[in-house]
Amino acid sequence: MSKDGAAIEDDPSLKGLGNYDLIEVVKKRWGEKVACISIGPAGEMRLAAASIACTDMEMHPTRHAGRGGVGAVMGSKGVKLIVLDDEGCKVREPKEPEKLKAANKVWVEGLKKHPVTGGGLPNYGTNVLTNIINESGGFPTFNFQRGQFEGASKISGETCAALETQRGGLATHGCHRGCVIQCSGIYNDAKGNYVSKQPEYETVWAHGANCGIDDMDAIALLDRLDDDIGLDTIDMGAAIGVAMEAGLIKFGDKEGAIDLVRQVGKGTPLGRIIGSGAATVAKVFGVERAPVVKGQALPAYDPRAIMGIGVTYATTPMGADHTAGYAIATNILKCGGFVDPLKPEGQIELSRNLQIATAAIDATGMCLFIAFAVLDQPETFQALIDMINAFYGLSLTGDDVTALGKSILKTERDFNKAAGFTKEMDRLPNYFKREAVAPHNVTFQVKDEDLDRVFNW
Ligand code: SF4
Repeated sequence: MSKDGAAIEDDPSLKGLGNYDLIEVVKKRWGEKVACISIGPAGEMRLAAASIACTDMEMHPTRHAGRGGVGAVMGSKGVKLIVLDDEGCKVREPKEPEKLKAANKVWVEGLKKHPVTGGGLPNYGTNVLTNIINESGGFPTFNFQRGQFEGASKISGETCAALETQRGGLATHGCHRGCVIQCSGIYNDAKGNYVSKQPEYETVWAHGANCGIDDMDAIALLDRLDDDIGLDTIDMGAAIGVAMEAGLIKFGDKEGAIDLVRQVGKGTPLGRIIGSGAATVAKVFGVERAPVVKGQALPAYDPRAIMGIGVTYATTPMGADHTAGYAIATNILKCGGFVDPLKPEGQIELSRNLQIATAAIDATGMCLFIAFAVLDQPETFQALIDMINAFYGLSLTGDDVTALGKSILKTERDFNKAAGFTKEMDRLPNYFKREAVAPHNVTFQVKDEDLDRVFNW
């Protein structure tokens, strides 16, 4: 796509390429000033854990629309690659530039002064959470068998940032132009060669603690392979965790985990099962303990030890989406108040309010990590509304934002209902109610009838 519009080409030579090789072809043909959206072999095979890759500032295919199997949708349409060339395109003009500039100043100051968006995230990335969540007892380990991992400090954000700096990578970096927070980084191997972007917390957990792997280099390689083959790192880590529980390979077997991901890329029969995600792996190998909701794998927080996120996992229309109502913010990080993570009281209201706010924030196109500052600082929330108003010449209020969030959630829920989803699917797997998790020895205690109240506002 360019200033002249969209052109569609048939190019069988791209078939089967990994995202990294695909981008090398793009560089030769279109140069290095374009951006790409693409799928790897997993999307072409229409596997349920297939992602869509977007290039970052270094033109690496590291930024993925990971969840929900969207890569399989692109593959089913026969679309391998979209090249975007903005040369000669006009930049959109704000309706009220001075007001936008003033609101943006307050906005940037707000992000820079908050301890999460101005400190934890830029210094250590999302992986700052490994030590915090491990300490809380909600760090799922060995396919959600325990809430703490002995090897956590070896794969923490602090360890990763130190390695990145030592090896000539970057511990603080933006994933695209204009990011104020800069939670990303560049991960090099021991010889200083690029391996991947800084692995996110979810990836470090999924391929690390969840599989009993405490080797940062192995996790970074798994991250690279997922990006190359075009896979959601959460569902891949969860799928391998279930495969480990089934006895295919042992917990902690990093070479075995790397081999399983490579098999997905090659499309072997076992690889296709693994690439279909944790729910399918559990069915094929007869594992009851499948950490999934609506067929999608749970992310990096145990819902028994952090019950607010359990409510979000169970009820969010996408299924097991931590970003849809990130209760960790209030249960653990104490942003926007505090609700005790180990008790059921207050979790429904917490998840409901966060799901409404998140749907609205997502609709702005802002990175969700701004939410920490927005939750805690009323002037930062107001600055976001002021920026939207100045850009589009609108006069939205805070109430309009809430109404927008509710209307988005209603649309999503209506879609699910029409697709055959029922309230019985707004549930965590039963074992979370039956099996207590150490070290707190708690089960998920939010009642089903309360889960059914989340969207009653
Ligand atoms: S804060 Fe958001 S936009 Fe910035 S680097 Fe992190 S993920 Fe990317």
